[in-house]
Amino acid sequence: MKYLSSYFTFATAIALLFSFEPPSLDISEKFVQCLYNYPHISNSVSNIVYAQTNSSYSSILDMSIRNYRFFNLSSKPQVIVTPLEVFHIQATIMCSQRHGLQILTRSGGHDYEGLSYVAEVPFVLIDIFNLRQITVDVENQTAWVQAGATLGELYYTISQKSKTLGFPAGVCATVGTGGHFSGGGYGFLMRKYGLAADNIIDAHIIDVNGNLLDRKAMGEDLFWAIRGGGGASFGVIVAWKIKLVPVPSTVTVFNVARTLEENATEIIQKWQLVANKLDERIFIRVDVKKVNSSEPGKQTIQANFVSMFQGGVEELIPLMQKSLPELGLERKDCTETSWIGSVVFANAVLLGSTVNEAPEVLLNRSRFRPGINKAKSDYVRKPIPIDGLQGLWRLLYEVPDGELQFAPYGGKMD
Ligand SMILES: Cc1cc2nc3c(=O)[nH]c(=O)nc-3n(C[C@H](O)[C@H](O)[C@H](O)COP(=O)(O)OP(=O)(O)OC[C@H]3O[C@@H](n4cnc5c(N)ncnc54)[C@H](O)[C@@H]3O)c2cc1C
Repeated sequence: MKYLSSYFTFATAIALLFSFEPPSLDISEKFVQCLYNYPHISNSVSNIVYAQTNSSYSSILDMSIRNYRFFNLSSKPQVIVTPLEVFHIQATIMCSQRHGLQILTRSGGHDYEGLSYVAEVPFVLIDIFNLRQITVDVENQTAWVQAGATLGELYYTISQKSKTLGFPAGVCATVGTGGHFSGGGYGFLMRKYGLAADNIIDAHIIDVNGNLLDRKAMGEDLFWAIRGGGGASFGVIVAWKIKLVPVPSTVTVFNVARTLEENATEIIQKWQLVANKLDERIFIRVDVKKVNSSEPGKQTIQANFVSMFQGGVEELIPLMQKSLPELGLERKDCTETSWIGSVVFANAVLLGSTVNEAPEVLLNRSRFRPGINKAKSDYVRKPIPIDGLQGLWRLLYEVPDGELQFAPYGGKMD
């Protein structure tokens, strides 16, 4: 990206920051004053800085809170900065250090524990939602994506440029590329192409000294660390360069539900044995939750087998009949679509929507409705025996609104 070279000499400008700040100001006022003193920035500060007294402060803060557990906490950012340019981030880093404020960086705000906007010490929130430019290079099968872009914005933009290129990352369209790529990022293409982090080929990060570094300048150790180690531990990631992957023009999706009365437990048991060994073009996730039974007043457990196959239905059906006949998949359960159609489908499943939607829904950053939730991931290395699964179902009956999601590895992930 063009702006990189012009900011390498950034450190030389730091001394200019320390002009007069009246001692009577509180810490957030001093921080804002420091930004105004920063070279070349004063004209734009009022458009990117939200102190707690600003009338837009709460709406900017709440905009990307995806979990009601973290609404209305007493610990809020002293100031929110919504950078439009790299030097806005650099100025924020320097002024935060000067005034002893921690920095939290937020992209899509989907962190399960609110780590991008909750802290017990005074802090500044850098919300990078304005930095979401995406440039796709179809010929070289790469793209630059700014870290404030969501997965939905990335997938949509790729699909506007090519029907046979995709990117292997997560399902939920409102997840941010800033947190997701720096933590790994798994989704429906991972068995063939690995994680999002496996397909990053360059990045721009601003370090603690305010230097903007690309892959070469940061070195391979740091480049390795920000692809799985969590970006916030190392700086503020501005943009990623990603390798796009080939996808067929036709893929097939299905979402087949089976209750306990329809042998859900036994099918899951068999699924555990085969799902990671299937043709790497097929990904079958299992979502398990409590539902009302067809018998009035009773409840049961339902497993949804949610899948995407990189190919047509004629190839998928025999493959499933051979490997997982217990599911009883039929042609009528399947829909042929494009790769972007499969992304829309997977998001509809996630949100419980049955409407046939256009890909533009992927651009809606507020589509994921926040609820109160606690989420946790873990690895299952050996198949869970039937009585173990039945124990899990008992737990699901006990909690008001719990859900389990099983995602198979295998293929490139082994
Ligand atoms: C509804 C939902 C669906 C999900 N689906 C999937 C899925 O299918 N696959 C999957 O792998 N994961 C999934 N996740 C988990 C998700 O990928 C992670 O929580 C991810 O970290 C969220 O990224 P974010 O940018 O939206 O979150 P944020 O809360 O903004 O950020 C998460 C972390 O990354 C840091 N960070 C964000 N941006 C930057 C940046 N620019 N520079 C440095 N650090 C930064 C934050 O400070 C924070 O520590 C899902 C989560 C939710 C809530």
